[in-house]
Amino acid sequence: MTEEHPSGPYLDEARRFSVSRALAQDQGPLGDNPYAMALAQFEKAISHLKLKSGVIDTLRYPKRELSVAFPVVMDNNEIRIFRGYRVHHSTVKGPTKGGIRYAPSVTLDEIRALAMWMTWKCALMNLPYGGAKGGVLVDPKKLSMRELERLTRRYATEISIMMGPESDIPAPDMGTNAQVMAWIMDTYSMHKGFSIPAVVTGKPIEIGGSLGRGEATGRGVAVTMREAMCIRGISPDQARVAVQGFGNVGSVAALQAHEMGLKVVAATCSTGGAIKEDGLDVKALMLHYDAAGNMKDFPEADFITNEELLALDCDVLILAALENQVTARNADGVKAKMIAEGANGPTTPSADEILKERGVLIVPDILCNAGGVTVSYLEWVQDLQSFFWSEDEINRTLENLMLKAFQSVKDCSAEHKVPMREAAQILAIQRISDAIMIRGIYP
Ligand code: GLU
Repeated sequence: MTEEHPSGPYLDEARRFSVSRALAQDQGPLGDNPYAMALAQFEKAISHLKLKSGVIDTLRYPKRELSVAFPVVMDNNEIRIFRGYRVHHSTVKGPTKGGIRYAPSVTLDEIRALAMWMTWKCALMNLPYGGAKGGVLVDPKKLSMRELERLTRRYATEISIMMGPESDIPAPDMGTNAQVMAWIMDTYSMHKGFSIPAVVTGKPIEIGGSLGRGEATGRGVAVTMREAMCIRGISPDQARVAVQGFGNVGSVAALQAHEMGLKVVAATCSTGGAIKEDGLDVKALMLHYDAAGNMKDFPEADFITNEELLALDCDVLILAALENQVTARNADGVKAKMIAEGANGPTTPSADEILKERGVLIVPDILCNAGGVTVSYLEWVQDLQSFFWSEDEINRTLENLMLKAFQSVKDCSAEHKVPMREAAQILAIQRISDAIMIRGIYP
């Protein structure tokens, strides 16, 4: 693969991430690398397109990356150094958009992959954004509120050279939430001397957040899942759903599924979860999980591990935890007829191949979980115009945009005879490539 792009700043990495190795070695450290995964998906999609090789190379690599190391004063007065990143993958369609992740496992390659997926996701949804992502290597649960605030304000200051309402607009992701966004908005505004709500999305309503943003990702998952069930011939009154990940995305998707009349038979968090053959009371499980922080001892349900959940005999598997969950190691054991990817990158390229052989329909991440960034866009527009819409208007617009994107992916999938992931990426990459060509190469 590397012979095709013999120059460029990432030559060594491109070599390391050569697609065939990524596909073949998904059991090893290379294949677990999300950037290798993103590149492998990219190579597959572009094989259907007639793109200029320079455009292909442009899209393989992030446009710009910032790596920061910064001190934070802890509650015991010690100074600790934290590392973080902000990556802009593409700016061709507009300001960059993408979440900020707080997790001890964050790597630069993970952030690169997530930024690339944001570019495709925004293009697929026809949002006027490029893709970005940020992350800090920290376990937020191990910090006090004050420490978390100081870390956030310092990180926001560090990345402020890349961030702004017209340049790069962060949002919540794993380990961050509306409060973290509020601190970022406040820090940025303090430096400018006036309030700039549009610098982040996923904020609290009180400071310019959008109604419906909190549930948007989960709602979008449910809408696309419902449409895909139709294609796969799964009837709603018989459907058995299992949900991996019970955070903001998984729990809302589960609740939506429950409200659509589907039977949610199992749900897990990182420490395992609950299974009940005749269906879980999702609302009660949400309350239990909120209070206990786990799903152990949920009344009238049995315990289930994450591995067992992935192999559960069910119709729909919602993957709403994190990357690399269904891999070459366990894809054979998946019994679900379809997968809805609430998380980014939960299925590896090798697993994709195995599941395709077995006829498992996958609603890919960049379509399935795009509800979040879609309502982020609505939030940003509302902030810029200082005029706010009702929750009903937001939810209706969200559903319409999700349905439109779903239909375009379905059509593209039929046209090219490829799975929905490839179809979604074909559409997105073509749009970005068109934008690059129309703008022309500067100077
Ligand atoms: N972190 C979310 C995602 O992966 C939302 C990004 C946003 O709203 O900008 O799509």
